[in-house]
Amino acid sequence: VKVTKFGGSSLASAEQILKMKKIVEADEARKFVVPSAPGKRFKDDVKVTDLLYSLHDAASHFEETEEIYRQIVRRYTDIRDELGLSIKIEDYLEKVYEDIKTGANEDYAASRGEYLNGLLIADLLGYDFIDAADVIFFDENGGYDAKKTLSILPGALKLHERAVVPGFYGSLPNGKIRTFSRGGSDITGSIVARAANADLYENWTDVSGFMMADPRIVEDPKKIDVVTYRELRELAYMGATVLHEDSIFPVLEAAIPINVKNTNDPENSGTMIIPAVEGRGEADGITGIAGKKNFTVITIEKDGMNTEIGFGRKVLTCLEKFGLSFEHMPTSIDTISIVVADVRIRHCIEELIDEIHAVCQPDSVEVSSNMAIIATVGRGMIRQVGVSAKLFAALADSHVNVRMIDQGSSEINIIVGVENDDFEKAVKAIYNALV
Ligand code: ADP
Ligand code: MG
Repeated sequence: VKVTKFGGSSLASAEQILKMKKIVEADEARKFVVPSAPGKRFKDDVKVTDLLYSLHDAASHFEETEEIYRQIVRRYTDIRDELGLSIKIEDYLEKVYEDIKTGANEDYAASRGEYLNGLLIADLLGYDFIDAADVIFFDENGGYDAKKTLSILPGALKLHERAVVPGFYGSLPNGKIRTFSRGGSDITGSIVARAANADLYENWTDVSGFMMADPRIVEDPKKIDVVTYRELRELAYMGATVLHEDSIFPVLEAAIPINVKNTNDPENSGTMIIPAVEGRGEADGITGIAGKKNFTVITIEKDGMNTEIGFGRKVLTCLEKFGLSFEHMPTSIDTISIVVADVRIRHCIEELIDEIHAVCQPDSVEVSSNMAIIATVGRGMIRQVGVSAKLFAALADSHVNVRMIDQGSSEINIIVGVENDDFEKAVKAIYNALV
């Protein structure tokens, strides 16, 4: 059995959806299909999920909703008509519109993109439709409830020879809809693969797999043929958004491989994501580079910090007081740096700094916002002589000012902090030096 998840660009129009159909029908084993909501058809197009968020936002502020709603209706009726289907999608749309106007929650609104697309796709393929709300569950804190899901979903799948399960959402104990974070249809696909005990989880998108760097930054980057779950998670979390970083967890235990494939080039073997790579040693070069913008780095300096018992705890207590978790925390003898996303820290940065001064009594506290962090990932990379030397030489040659380095405990990555404006330049420089 293969579970096939298709991303938004693979299902953005009738033309793309027909490519999906051809792929699914080419292999008997493709019994379960997990669709996303229709994505962008062209560069400045708007994803249906974003239209739904806007619709919900307008409705909850009692603003004009008709025009946004009409755009959503058009997306689905165009697809339906161009595919020559007879399903009355308008009836489902009207129900959704009514629900949103009468106070349905934001997650409900967002999830309808996948729900409505799933109905169309099930109709087109002649597959059964399974509403994810009936088979995928979250706990009262809003976290994914693996135990409950795996007690219900496998049995539900067995009742269907072939079925479509829309991505991105499930339900809370109170019956309300809850979504994963953006890009979360990748997680649904992984959950369905686990529940179906699939041999393979195929994740179909608009690129031929994982590249060694973001193709929007580096021209024609090399493809990664095989990558481990751990490296994948590291790269995905750090900005290689091809696959949601949490999508490895559901398949981890069952060791189901994930194959990232290109809907527009189905013959391409794509990237295989597997538990561990055998027979490939530490002599390998790097696996990939990924990064993201808009972080704040706080650097706390105090002479003798390394011998002061409880200093780290004091710093963490300050963060905790403002409900902040951190992304990275590189340390040296006399400094600790803390990396937090700008959006999470912006509202409380001044109070936090005051708190750090009061509690930790540091010599100095320095704050840099608008920073980008870039991870260079590879198995056992740190034991390879010269990788970091080359990396830093390349950044210096490109006149990139490195503001933070974290090469501490993880043996599979080196992280550098640079200014947002230097981000693309830095990624290119690292790529050209190490690939
Ligand atoms: P989908 O809608 O199919 O889920 P996404 O937009 O979530 O697709 O992910 C695919 C996109 O990820 C690509 O189009 C590419 O722009 C971007 N991307 C970022 N980093 C990488 C990378 N290292 N390799 C390939 N694609 C990447
Ligand atoms: Mg995606």
